[in-house]
Amino acid sequence: MHLCYNCHGDPLQVLRLKKKKKDEGAPLGPQEVRLRILAAAINPADINQIEGRYPLLPSSLPAVPGNEATAQVLEVGSAVAALKAGSWCVPVSAGGGGMWRSTWRGPAASWMALPAGVPLDAAATLTVSSCTALRMLEDFVRLKPGDAVVQNAGSSAVSRAVTQIARAKDLHSVSLLRRRGTPEADDALRAEILALGADLALFEDELRDSDVKPRLREMNFRLGLNSVGGVSAENVAKLLAPKASFVTYGGMSKGPATIPTGLFIFKDISARGFWMTRWMNEVGTTEDKKRMLLALSDLARSGTLHSTVKLFDLETEWRQAVEMAVANHKPAKAVLRCGNASGGVAAISP
Ligand code: NDP
Repeated sequence: MHLCYNCHGDPLQVLRLKKKKKDEGAPLGPQEVRLRILAAAINPADINQIEGRYPLLPSSLPAVPGNEATAQVLEVGSAVAALKAGSWCVPVSAGGGGMWRSTWRGPAASWMALPAGVPLDAAATLTVSSCTALRMLEDFVRLKPGDAVVQNAGSSAVSRAVTQIARAKDLHSVSLLRRRGTPEADDALRAEILALGADLALFEDELRDSDVKPRLREMNFRLGLNSVGGVSAENVAKLLAPKASFVTYGGMSKGPATIPTGLFIFKDISARGFWMTRWMNEVGTTEDKKRMLLALSDLARSGTLHSTVKLFDLETEWRQAVEMAVANHKPAKAVLRCGNASGGVAAISP
């Protein structure tokens, strides 16, 4: 069973559920693997790919969307040594889609085994959200304990991972948020982000409050992360310390990332971009990827890194999942439970 689309457009209009694929039971080649997809997250890039508004689109249609998943190995080809039947794995080549399905068959080299004991929620968001967070914390500036990172879209899955990983590294972090519509909802969101380990969780209009400014001045923001653009990007950039790095990895507001000229001249900040797909496909070696997955798995197994997800059955609830994924102010990352036809999914890691 899988979801696919024949033309680009609104996901709720163009996605179709298909119950059977011809080669699902065909014998495997020596380097191939057959997997059961346990859970597949719905990320903004998946939605943009379906809409046809992403730099990387499927080479032909129909296409199955989905770039992040956790799978269980059902069967391996005769020459496959790195994956074992029963174990869990995650994709390590990115951007090609194809994860919103119950079973997957193809090259074993596209997947990497996950250590046992990683909870499903963390596993389902590991290779996009958590890997992006870790790479951005490690690859742009050498942060030492006590340094600080500031980010906008503090409620997003990537930002939540940044907050938790930063805390594990003894870094300070500040998350900028947008208001949810009621004081109660704002308070609940702030409490959630603080509970993840942020030093401050601020709505962007609070940045100029007299009691907030001194606390921000105390912090040494050597890294700023922007996934919004517009005024929100400027709010991040203005907090940065001299010679800090400003990294843009998303553009949720669809506005350009504006940085005041003076920050380049008088603070010598560096503005860069990050794309996990490029890192997975062109930059990271197999050893780098193993090290990264191991580090994140350790954090997940110890309970230091967890992910707020809501599971939806692929067959019966995919529409609700997509609706949640495209909504504002969502309470969790929408994740498709793919498993088998009945929607069953292994509840615990082997
Ligand atoms: P989520 O779907 O978990 O969260 C979306 C976030 O964007 C929420 O914080 C939401 O705020 C905020 N948001 C949505 N629309 C706007 C807007 N118009 N103005 C301000 N904030 C807005 O997102 P992910 O964590 O999965 O992804 C976050 C961003 O990072 C996306 O742009 C995504 O494409 C990008 N990304 C990039 C990667 C890369 O390699 N470059 C990898 C992974 C993600 P609210 O809660 O208030 O609705």
